Amino acid sequence: MIGVAVLGSTGSVGVNTLDVVARHPERFRVVALAAQRNVARLAEQVLKFRPEYAALADPGAARELAGHITAAGLPTRVLAGAGALEEIAQLSQVDYVMAAIVGAAGLRSTLAAARAGKRLMLANKESLVMAGPLLMAAVRQSGALLLPIDSEHNAIFQCLPHATRAGDTPPGVRRVLLTASGGPFFDWPSERIAAATPEQACAHPTWVMGRKISVDSASLMNKGLELIEACFLFALTPEHVDILVHRQSIVHSLVEYVDGSVLAQLSSPDMRTPIAHALGWPERLDAGVSFLDLIRAARLDFCAPDTGRFRCLALAQAAARAGGLHPVFLNAANEVAVAAFLAGRLNFPDIATVIESVITKAAMGAIRSLDDVLQADGEARRLAGECCGGNESGAQGAYA
Ligand code: NDP
Repeated sequence: MIGVAVLGSTGSVGVNTLDVVARHPERFRVVALAAQRNVARLAEQVLKFRPEYAALADPGAARELAGHITAAGLPTRVLAGAGALEEIAQLSQVDYVMAAIVGAAGLRSTLAAARAGKRLMLANKESLVMAGPLLMAAVRQSGALLLPIDSEHNAIFQCLPHATRAGDTPPGVRRVLLTASGGPFFDWPSERIAAATPEQACAHPTWVMGRKISVDSASLMNKGLELIEACFLFALTPEHVDILVHRQSIVHSLVEYVDGSVLAQLSSPDMRTPIAHALGWPERLDAGVSFLDLIRAARLDFCAPDTGRFRCLALAQAAARAGGLHPVFLNAANEVAVAAFLAGRLNFPDIATVIESVITKAAMGAIRSLDDVLQADGEARRLAGECCGGNESGAQGAYA
Protein backbone atom coordinates (compact mmCIF):
# COMPACT_ATOMS: atom_id res chain seq x y z
CA MET A 1 0.00 0.00 0.00
CA ILE A 2 1.25 3.45 -0.94
CA GLY A 3 0.93 6.01 1.87
CA VAL A 4 -0.46 9.35 0.63
CA ALA A 5 -0.55 12.76 2.33
CA VAL A 6 -2.80 15.44 0.85
CA LEU A 7 -1.79 18.98 1.83
CA GLY A 8 -4.69 21.28 0.97
CA SER A 9 -7.17 18.37 1.06
CA THR A 10 -10.21 20.63 1.49
CA GLY A 11 -9.53 22.60 -1.70
CA SER A 12 -10.40 21.92 -5.32
CA VAL A 13 -7.24 19.91 -6.14
CA GLY A 14 -7.34 18.18 -2.74
CA VAL A 15 -10.93 17.01 -3.21
CA ASN A 16 -10.13 15.76 -6.74
CA THR A 17 -7.09 13.91 -5.40
CA LEU A 18 -9.18 12.11 -2.78
CA ASP A 19 -11.73 11.23 -5.46
CA VAL A 20 -9.03 9.45 -7.52
CA VAL A 21 -7.43 7.85 -4.44
CA ALA A 22 -10.84 6.47 -3.36
CA ARG A 23 -11.14 4.65 -6.71
CA HIS A 24 -8.04 2.59 -5.87
CA PRO A 25 -8.38 1.37 -2.27
CA GLU A 26 -6.17 -1.65 -3.01
CA ARG A 27 -3.30 0.66 -3.97
CA PHE A 28 -3.43 3.77 -1.77
CA ARG A 29 -3.82 4.45 1.95
CA VAL A 30 -4.45 8.02 3.10
CA VAL A 31 -1.95 8.66 5.90
CA ALA A 32 -2.49 12.38 6.44
CA LEU A 33 -4.80 15.22 5.47
CA ALA A 34 -4.08 18.90 6.01
CA ALA A 35 -5.68 22.27 5.36
CA GLN A 36 -5.96 25.75 6.87
CA ARG A 37 -9.28 26.12 8.70
CA ASN A 38 -12.13 24.26 6.97
CA VAL A 39 -13.13 22.07 9.94
CA ALA A 40 -16.39 20.74 8.46
CA ARG A 41 -14.86 19.45 5.24
CA LEU A 42 -11.74 18.04 6.88
CA ALA A 43 -13.83 16.26 9.53
CA GLU A 44 -15.91 14.68 6.74
CA GLN A 45 -12.73 13.55 4.96
CA VAL A 46 -11.28 12.13 8.18
CA LEU A 47 -14.46 10.11 8.78
CA LYS A 48 -14.28 8.71 5.24
CA PHE A 49 -10.52 8.04 4.89
CA ARG A 50 -9.54 7.45 8.55
CA PRO A 51 -5.98 8.84 8.22
CA GLU A 52 -3.39 8.56 10.99
CA TYR A 53 -2.94 12.36 11.01
CA ALA A 54 -5.08 15.41 10.30
CA ALA A 55 -3.66 18.92 10.53
CA LEU A 56 -5.02 22.44 10.38
CA ALA A 57 -2.74 25.47 10.21
CA ASP A 58 -5.23 27.48 12.29
CA PRO A 59 -4.83 26.32 15.93
CA GLY A 60 -8.42 27.22 16.93
CA ALA A 61 -9.82 25.25 14.00
CA ALA A 62 -7.53 22.32 14.89
CA ARG A 63 -8.99 22.27 18.44
CA GLU A 64 -12.49 22.17 16.99
CA LEU A 65 -11.49 19.33 14.65
CA ALA A 66 -10.00 17.37 17.55
CA GLY A 67 -13.39 17.64 19.32
CA HIS A 68 -15.19 16.12 16.30
CA ILE A 69 -12.66 13.33 15.98
CA THR A 70 -12.79 12.41 19.67
CA ALA A 71 -16.61 12.41 19.53
CA ALA A 72 -16.47 10.04 16.53
CA GLY A 73 -14.12 7.73 18.47
CA LEU A 74 -11.42 7.82 15.77
CA PRO A 75 -7.71 7.36 16.59
CA THR A 76 -6.60 10.10 14.09
CA ARG A 77 -3.98 12.41 15.68
CA VAL A 78 -4.78 16.08 15.18
CA LEU A 79 -1.85 18.47 14.67
CA ALA A 80 -2.03 22.26 14.69
CA GLY A 81 -0.07 25.15 13.20
CA ALA A 82 1.93 25.74 10.03
CA GLY A 83 4.80 23.55 11.31
CA ALA A 84 2.46 20.54 11.37
CA LEU A 85 2.24 20.58 7.59
CA GLU A 86 6.03 20.26 7.31
CA GLU A 87 5.93 17.42 9.84
CA ILE A 88 3.31 15.57 7.79
CA ALA A 89 5.24 16.02 4.56
CA GLN A 90 8.20 14.16 6.07
CA LEU A 91 6.45 11.26 7.84
CA SER A 92 8.17 7.93 7.12
CA GLN A 93 4.83 6.24 6.39
CA VAL A 94 4.09 8.85 3.67
CA ASP A 95 5.35 7.87 0.20
CA TYR A 96 3.49 10.40 -1.95
CA VAL A 97 2.74 14.04 -1.07
CA MET A 98 0.12 16.03 -2.94
CA ALA A 99 1.20 19.68 -2.52
CA ALA A 100 -2.15 21.44 -3.10
CA ILE A 101 -2.07 24.37 -0.69
CA VAL A 102 -2.75 27.66 -2.44
CA GLY A 103 -0.10 30.38 -2.56
CA ALA A 104 3.12 31.01 -0.68
CA ALA A 105 1.59 29.25 2.35
CA GLY A 106 2.52 25.98 0.63
CA LEU A 107 6.23 26.74 0.26
CA ARG A 108 7.67 25.21 3.45
CA SER A 109 5.70 21.96 3.32
CA THR A 110 6.50 21.53 -0.39
CA LEU A 111 10.21 22.02 0.34
CA ALA A 112 9.96 19.59 3.26
CA ALA A 113 8.47 16.89 1.00
CA ALA A 114 11.21 17.49 -1.58
CA ARG A 115 13.95 17.30 1.05
CA ALA A 116 12.46 14.09 2.46
CA GLY A 117 12.72 12.42 -0.97
CA LYS A 118 8.98 11.83 -1.45
CA ARG A 119 7.05 11.51 -4.70
CA LEU A 120 6.10 15.17 -4.82
CA MET A 121 2.93 15.81 -6.83
CA LEU A 122 3.14 19.55 -7.28
CA ALA A 123 -0.02 21.63 -7.71
CA ASN A 124 1.27 24.53 -5.58
CA LYS A 125 2.95 26.37 -8.46
CA GLU A 126 3.66 29.39 -6.25
CA SER A 127 6.37 27.45 -4.37
CA LEU A 128 8.25 26.83 -7.61
CA VAL A 129 7.75 30.43 -8.75
CA MET A 130 9.15 31.73 -5.44
CA ALA A 131 11.90 29.27 -4.76
CA GLY A 132 12.51 27.36 -8.00
CA PRO A 133 16.30 27.04 -7.58
CA LEU A 134 15.95 25.84 -3.96
CA LEU A 135 13.13 23.40 -4.68
CA MET A 136 14.84 21.88 -7.71
CA ALA A 137 18.12 21.54 -5.75
CA ALA A 138 16.25 19.79 -2.92
CA VAL A 139 14.67 17.38 -5.41
CA ARG A 140 18.06 16.61 -6.97
CA GLN A 141 19.81 16.10 -3.63
CA SER A 142 17.19 13.86 -2.04
CA GLY A 143 16.23 11.91 -5.17
CA ALA A 144 12.58 12.94 -4.78
CA LEU A 145 10.36 12.34 -7.82
CA LEU A 146 8.70 15.62 -8.81
CA LEU A 147 5.59 15.17 -10.94
CA PRO A 148 3.65 18.23 -12.14
CA ILE A 149 -0.08 18.45 -11.43
CA ASP A 150 -0.80 21.68 -13.28
CA SER A 151 -2.57 20.30 -16.36
CA GLU A 152 -0.25 22.17 -18.74
CA HIS A 153 2.98 20.96 -17.13
CA ASN A 154 1.62 17.48 -16.69
CA ALA A 155 0.82 17.54 -20.43
CA ILE A 156 4.37 18.67 -21.26
CA PHE A 157 5.80 15.97 -19.01
CA GLN A 158 3.68 13.38 -20.84
CA CYS A 159 5.00 14.63 -24.22
CA LEU A 160 8.68 14.37 -23.20
CA PRO A 161 10.82 11.23 -23.57
CA HIS A 162 9.91 8.70 -20.91
CA ALA A 163 13.24 8.91 -19.04
CA THR A 164 12.95 12.69 -18.54
CA ARG A 165 12.77 13.83 -14.90
CA ALA A 166 11.82 17.29 -13.67
CA GLY A 167 14.88 19.52 -13.85
CA ASP A 168 16.38 17.70 -16.85
CA THR A 169 16.95 19.55 -20.10
CA PRO A 170 14.80 17.56 -22.51
CA PRO A 171 16.81 16.41 -25.55
CA GLY A 172 15.74 17.63 -29.00
CA VAL A 173 13.13 20.08 -27.71
CA ARG A 174 12.86 23.32 -29.72
CA ARG A 175 10.16 24.94 -27.58
CA VAL A 176 7.12 24.18 -25.49
CA LEU A 177 3.70 25.70 -26.10
CA LEU A 178 1.67 26.37 -22.98
CA THR A 179 -2.04 26.59 -23.69
CA ALA A 180 -4.31 29.06 -21.90
CA SER A 181 -8.09 29.07 -21.83
CA GLY A 182 -8.02 32.87 -21.96
CA GLY A 183 -10.27 33.06 -18.88
CA PRO A 184 -13.73 34.63 -18.51
CA PHE A 185 -12.65 38.07 -19.81
CA PHE A 186 -11.03 36.80 -23.02
CA ASP A 187 -13.29 38.81 -25.36
CA TRP A 188 -14.31 41.60 -22.98
CA PRO A 189 -13.29 45.19 -23.87
CA SER A 190 -11.01 46.95 -21.36
CA GLU A 191 -13.85 49.18 -20.05
CA ARG A 192 -15.94 46.13 -19.13
CA ILE A 193 -12.94 44.35 -17.52
CA ALA A 194 -12.36 47.49 -15.42
CA ALA A 195 -15.75 46.97 -13.74
CA ALA A 196 -15.44 43.17 -13.30
CA THR A 197 -16.65 41.72 -10.00
CA PRO A 198 -15.01 38.84 -8.04
CA GLU A 199 -17.95 36.59 -9.01
CA GLN A 200 -17.38 37.32 -12.71
CA ALA A 201 -13.62 36.73 -12.34
CA CYS A 202 -14.23 33.38 -10.60
CA ALA A 203 -16.71 32.16 -13.25
CA HIS A 204 -14.13 30.27 -15.31
CA PRO A 205 -15.46 29.07 -18.68
CA THR A 206 -13.90 25.58 -18.62
CA TRP A 207 -12.38 24.74 -15.20
CA VAL A 208 -13.82 24.65 -11.67
CA MET A 209 -11.04 25.84 -9.35
CA GLY A 210 -10.31 27.70 -6.11
CA ARG A 211 -10.85 31.46 -6.02
CA LYS A 212 -7.22 32.59 -6.15
CA ILE A 213 -6.27 30.57 -9.24
CA SER A 214 -9.59 31.56 -10.86
CA VAL A 215 -8.70 35.26 -10.55
CA ASP A 216 -5.18 34.48 -11.79
CA SER A 217 -6.73 32.78 -14.82
CA ALA A 218 -8.93 35.82 -15.49
CA SER A 219 -5.91 38.17 -15.37
CA LEU A 220 -3.64 35.69 -17.25
CA MET A 221 -1.24 35.90 -14.29
CA ASN A 222 -1.81 32.17 -13.98
CA LYS A 223 -0.19 31.68 -17.39
CA GLY A 224 2.69 33.92 -16.35
CA LEU A 225 3.24 31.89 -13.17
CA GLU A 226 3.07 28.75 -15.31
CA LEU A 227 5.70 30.14 -17.66
CA ILE A 228 8.09 30.51 -14.70
CA GLU A 229 7.05 27.07 -13.43
CA ALA A 230 7.79 25.50 -16.84
CA CYS A 231 11.28 27.05 -16.93
CA PHE A 232 12.21 25.43 -13.61
CA LEU A 233 10.49 22.10 -14.24
CA PHE A 234 11.97 21.52 -17.67
CA ALA A 235 15.22 23.54 -17.45
CA LEU A 236 14.10 25.95 -20.19
CA THR A 237 14.64 29.67 -20.71
CA PRO A 238 11.54 31.89 -21.14
CA GLU A 239 12.44 32.24 -24.84
CA HIS A 240 11.70 28.53 -25.24
CA VAL A 241 8.17 28.80 -23.83
CA ASP A 242 5.36 30.23 -25.97
CA ILE A 243 1.78 30.84 -24.89
CA LEU A 244 -1.22 29.94 -27.02
CA VAL A 245 -4.81 30.80 -26.16
CA HIS A 246 -6.98 27.74 -26.74
CA ARG A 247 -10.55 28.38 -25.59
CA GLN A 248 -11.70 24.77 -25.57
CA SER A 249 -9.15 23.61 -22.91
CA ILE A 250 -8.78 20.24 -24.65
CA VAL A 251 -5.13 20.49 -25.74
CA HIS A 252 -3.37 20.97 -22.41
CA SER A 253 0.04 21.88 -23.88
CA LEU A 254 2.43 20.90 -26.67
CA VAL A 255 6.13 20.15 -27.18
CA GLU A 256 7.86 21.01 -30.45
CA TYR A 257 10.95 19.00 -31.38
CA VAL A 258 13.85 20.03 -33.63
CA ASP A 259 12.67 17.66 -36.38
CA GLY A 260 9.40 19.61 -36.69
CA SER A 261 7.27 17.11 -34.74
CA VAL A 262 4.77 18.60 -32.31
CA LEU A 263 3.40 16.32 -29.57
CA ALA A 264 0.34 17.31 -27.57
CA GLN A 265 -1.65 15.87 -24.69
CA LEU A 266 -5.44 16.09 -25.00
CA SER A 267 -8.16 15.28 -22.49
CA SER A 268 -11.39 16.66 -21.08
CA PRO A 269 -10.77 19.62 -18.75
CA ASP A 270 -10.81 17.62 -15.50
CA MET A 271 -7.97 17.80 -12.96
CA ARG A 272 -8.45 14.13 -12.12
CA THR A 273 -6.52 13.24 -15.32
CA PRO A 274 -3.19 14.87 -14.31
CA ILE A 275 -3.76 13.79 -10.70
CA ALA A 276 -4.27 10.15 -11.72
CA HIS A 277 -1.24 10.39 -14.01
CA ALA A 278 0.97 11.51 -11.12
CA LEU A 279 -0.50 8.97 -8.69
CA GLY A 280 -0.07 6.11 -11.15
CA TRP A 281 3.12 7.04 -13.03
CA PRO A 282 4.55 5.16 -14.86
CA GLU A 283 1.31 3.18 -14.93
CA ARG A 284 -2.10 4.55 -15.93
CA LEU A 285 -5.01 4.60 -13.47
CA ASP A 286 -8.75 5.00 -13.92
CA ALA A 287 -9.49 8.65 -13.05
CA GLY A 288 -13.31 8.67 -13.29
CA VAL A 289 -13.24 11.35 -16.01
CA SER A 290 -15.43 11.64 -19.12
CA PHE A 291 -13.57 10.43 -22.17
CA LEU A 292 -12.84 12.94 -24.89
CA ASP A 293 -15.28 13.00 -27.80
CA LEU A 294 -13.40 14.81 -30.58
CA ILE A 295 -16.27 14.56 -33.05
CA ARG A 296 -18.49 16.38 -30.56
CA ALA A 297 -15.74 18.90 -29.78
CA ALA A 298 -15.30 19.35 -33.57
CA ARG A 299 -12.83 22.27 -33.41
CA LEU A 300 -9.58 23.20 -31.73
CA ASP A 301 -8.88 26.94 -32.00
CA PHE A 302 -5.65 28.76 -31.14
CA CYS A 303 -4.65 32.43 -31.00
CA ALA A 304 -2.00 34.66 -29.41
CA PRO A 305 -2.61 36.18 -25.94
CA ASP A 306 -3.30 39.91 -25.68
CA THR A 307 -0.74 41.34 -23.25
CA GLY A 308 -2.18 44.84 -23.77
CA ARG A 309 -5.50 44.01 -22.09
CA PHE A 310 -3.90 41.42 -19.77
CA ARG A 311 -0.88 43.26 -18.33
CA CYS A 312 -0.25 40.64 -15.64
CA LEU A 313 1.05 38.26 -18.29
CA ALA A 314 3.54 40.84 -19.57
CA LEU A 315 4.71 41.52 -15.99
CA ALA A 316 5.23 37.81 -15.36
CA GLN A 317 7.11 37.39 -18.65
CA ALA A 318 9.45 40.22 -17.61
CA ALA A 319 9.95 38.62 -14.17
CA ALA A 320 10.71 35.27 -15.81
CA ARG A 321 13.38 36.90 -17.97
CA ALA A 322 14.88 38.81 -15.01
CA GLY A 323 14.95 35.75 -12.70
CA GLY A 324 16.44 35.91 -9.17
CA LEU A 325 14.06 37.54 -6.68
CA HIS A 326 11.81 39.12 -9.37
CA PRO A 327 9.34 36.22 -9.41
CA VAL A 328 9.17 36.31 -5.59
CA PHE A 329 8.09 39.97 -5.66
CA LEU A 330 5.70 39.31 -8.53
CA ASN A 331 4.07 36.38 -6.75
CA ALA A 332 3.69 38.05 -3.36
CA ALA A 333 2.35 41.32 -4.83
CA ASN A 334 -0.13 39.30 -6.88
CA GLU A 335 -1.29 37.33 -3.82
CA VAL A 336 -1.96 40.53 -1.85
CA ALA A 337 -3.67 42.25 -4.80
CA VAL A 338 -5.86 39.22 -5.58
CA ALA A 339 -6.93 38.96 -1.93
CA ALA A 340 -7.80 42.70 -1.97
CA PHE A 341 -9.76 42.29 -5.22
CA LEU A 342 -11.68 39.31 -3.81
CA ALA A 343 -12.46 41.33 -0.69
CA GLY A 344 -13.90 44.14 -2.86
CA ARG A 345 -11.10 46.61 -2.01
CA LEU A 346 -9.41 46.75 -5.42
CA ASN A 347 -10.58 47.00 -9.03
CA PHE A 348 -9.57 44.18 -11.33
CA PRO A 349 -7.11 46.24 -13.49
CA ASP A 350 -5.43 47.50 -10.32
CA ILE A 351 -4.08 44.00 -9.63
CA ALA A 352 -1.54 44.69 -12.41
CA THR A 353 -0.99 48.26 -11.18
CA VAL A 354 -0.12 47.05 -7.65
CA ILE A 355 2.31 44.42 -8.98
CA GLU A 356 3.99 46.93 -11.28
CA SER A 357 4.40 49.42 -8.47
CA VAL A 358 5.91 46.80 -6.12
CA ILE A 359 8.33 45.60 -8.78
CA THR A 360 9.43 49.17 -9.50
CA LYS A 361 10.14 49.90 -5.82
CA ALA A 362 11.69 46.57 -4.82
CA ALA A 363 15.38 45.87 -4.38
CA MET A 364 16.03 42.79 -6.50
CA GLY A 365 18.89 40.34 -6.19
CA ALA A 366 19.79 36.69 -6.50
CA ILE A 367 18.31 33.79 -4.47
CA ARG A 368 21.00 32.32 -2.23
CA SER A 369 18.86 30.89 0.53
CA LEU A 370 15.30 30.43 1.81
CA ASP A 371 15.83 33.52 3.98
CA ASP A 372 16.34 35.63 0.82
CA VAL A 373 13.03 34.34 -0.52
CA LEU A 374 11.12 34.89 2.73
CA GLN A 375 12.54 38.39 3.17
CA ALA A 376 11.61 39.39 -0.38
CA ASP A 377 8.16 37.85 0.07
CA GLY A 378 7.62 39.86 3.28
CA GLU A 379 8.88 43.09 1.71
CA ALA A 380 6.66 42.63 -1.36
CA ARG A 381 3.61 42.00 0.85
CA ARG A 382 4.35 45.17 2.81
CA LEU A 383 4.74 47.28 -0.36
CA ALA A 384 1.65 45.73 -1.96
CA GLY A 385 -0.34 46.32 1.24
CA GLU A 386 0.57 50.03 1.05
CA CYS A 387 -0.56 50.19 -2.59
CA CYS A 388 -3.88 48.56 -1.68
CA GLY A 389 -4.62 51.38 0.76
CA GLY A 390 -2.43 50.33 3.66
CA ASN A 391 -5.07 48.16 5.30
CA GLU A 392 -4.11 44.86 3.64
CA SER A 393 -2.59 42.44 6.11
CA GLY A 394 -0.68 40.68 3.33
CA ALA A 395 -1.50 37.43 5.13
CA GLN A 396 -1.06 34.25 3.15
CA GLY A 397 -4.03 32.11 2.15
CA ALA A 398 -6.68 34.85 2.51
CA TYR A 399 -8.85 34.18 -0.53
CA ALA A 400 -12.27 33.63 1.04
P1 NDP B 1 -8.41 26.08 -3.14
O1 NDP B 1 -8.56 27.49 -2.75
O2 NDP B 1 -9.59 25.35 -3.66
O3 NDP B 1 -7.83 25.25 -1.90
C1 NDP B 1 -6.72 25.69 -1.20
C2 NDP B 1 -6.31 24.69 -0.16
O4 NDP B 1 -5.19 25.22 0.55
C3 NDP B 1 -7.39 24.45 0.91
O5 NDP B 1 -7.32 23.12 1.36
C4 NDP B 1 -6.99 25.41 2.03
O6 NDP B 1 -7.47 25.04 3.30
C5 NDP B 1 -5.48 25.25 1.95
N1 NDP B 1 -4.76 26.40 2.53
C6 NDP B 1 -4.88 27.70 2.22
N2 NDP B 1 -4.06 28.45 2.97
C7 NDP B 1 -3.43 27.58 3.82
C8 NDP B 1 -2.50 27.74 4.86
N3 NDP B 1 -2.05 28.94 5.23
N4 NDP B 1 -2.07 26.63 5.50
C9 NDP B 1 -2.53 25.42 5.16
N5 NDP B 1 -3.43 25.18 4.18
C10 NDP B 1 -3.87 26.28 3.52
O7 NDP B 1 -7.21 26.03 -4.19
P2 NDP B 1 -7.01 25.07 -5.45
O8 NDP B 1 -7.21 23.65 -5.03
O9 NDP B 1 -7.75 25.60 -6.59
O10 NDP B 1 -5.46 25.31 -5.75
C11 NDP B 1 -4.44 24.77 -4.96
C12 NDP B 1 -3.11 24.94 -5.67
O11 NDP B 1 -3.15 24.16 -6.87
C13 NDP B 1 -2.82 26.38 -6.12
O12 NDP B 1 -1.45 26.62 -6.02
C14 NDP B 1 -3.25 26.40 -7.58
O13 NDP B 1 -2.53 27.36 -8.33
C15 NDP B 1 -2.88 24.98 -8.00
N6 NDP B 1 -3.67 24.48 -9.12
C16 NDP B 1 -5.03 24.35 -8.99
C17 NDP B 1 -5.80 23.86 -10.04
C18 NDP B 1 -7.28 23.65 -9.90
O14 NDP B 1 -7.90 23.07 -10.81
N7 NDP B 1 -7.91 24.08 -8.83
C19 NDP B 1 -5.17 23.53 -11.33
C20 NDP B 1 -3.74 23.66 -11.33
C21 NDP B 1 -3.02 24.12 -10.26
P3 NDP B 1 -8.91 25.60 3.85
O15 NDP B 1 -9.95 25.01 2.93
O16 NDP B 1 -8.98 25.05 5.24
O17 NDP B 1 -8.83 27.08 3.78
